[in-house]
Amino acid sequence: MRGAVIHAPGDVRFETLDDPKVLHPTDAVIRTAVTCVCGSDLWPYRGAEPIGDPHPMGHEYVGFVEEVGSAVTGLRPGQFVVGSFATSDNTCPNCLNGFQSNCLHREFMSTCQAEYVRVPNAAGTLVALDEVPDESLWPGLLANSDVMGTGWWAADAARVRPGSTAVVVGDGAVGLCAVIAAKELGAERIIAMSRHESRQELARAFGATDVVAERGEDGVARIKELTGGIGADSVLECVGTAQSTAQALHSARPGGSVGFVGVPHGVTVDGQELFFSHVGLRGGPAPVRRYLPDLIERVLSGRIDPGRVFDLTLPLDRVAEGYRAMDERRAIKALLTP
Ligand SMILES: [Zn+2]
Repeated sequence: MRGAVIHAPGDVRFETLDDPKVLHPTDAVIRTAVTCVCGSDLWPYRGAEPIGDPHPMGHEYVGFVEEVGSAVTGLRPGQFVVGSFATSDNTCPNCLNGFQSNCLHREFMSTCQAEYVRVPNAAGTLVALDEVPDESLWPGLLANSDVMGTGWWAADAARVRPGSTAVVVGDGAVGLCAVIAAKELGAERIIAMSRHESRQELARAFGATDVVAERGEDGVARIKELTGGIGADSVLECVGTAQSTAQALHSARPGGSVGFVGVPHGVTVDGQELFFSHVGLRGGPAPVRRYLPDLIERVLSGRIDPGRVFDLTLPLDRVAEGYRAMDERRAIKALLTP
């Protein structure tokens, strides 16, 4: 089969790879329906994370079950499945507590920009649909496997409640999905922080009531102006830089909460400042598996359409173009079709 391999910063190639096989009885192999490039794939692509030896890429996927290991229950070949970027057995204590992305048997997916993918912990990770959904729904279901699930976690971790005010820091795919989540969880006012017109538009379509284009402390000042001088109930940090994290922490009101889901790079938090701010802080890799059944239902029923974050569609063999377009911010998120 063929798939994407990163060799060096800026150098992603589409190459012939070994066909994935069932290696453990708990594995499944799926045939990719659609996959995509993630904002977090840009960290190594931009040289902000070490690459080491050339290796496959991708952690978002929906597909058709091709083969299952002898210990996999509840799945059969031909089923359309949605998974998560973190695999989980869904039976260990951390899974039962709803933190499947910290499963004691967790393995992160890392080879999904390919025609076939091996999924460890298949029975606990994959959610099978009753029937193969219409192709128009595949992008939305694919978004659930990471960006929509992560946006939901941002809103959940930031304790978005009916009637509350939520600020979303970051206008990438996760930030835009976080707007959807804040709306679904009942936020009355949703302030999207974005400087890009097309992304502002999509944020408004997803439910943002206000847009703030200023950044850093200027952005914080605007948020305070819009929130009676004190800051927002909930702030959803969806970037992961030092600046965006400071912006998020300073935008929350005393007693408010920040959910941080952008993978931190160069972020430090000042203990004294956090102490005196009375701001609650929770984040980490999203427990997407906890949300999947609900998110799948919302997509299938047409209640939400996170697939709109894909503004570029390419055949999988042109995956390198997807990285380039996202790196240059010409595209929010690239959908790849095998
Ligand atoms: Zn587990």
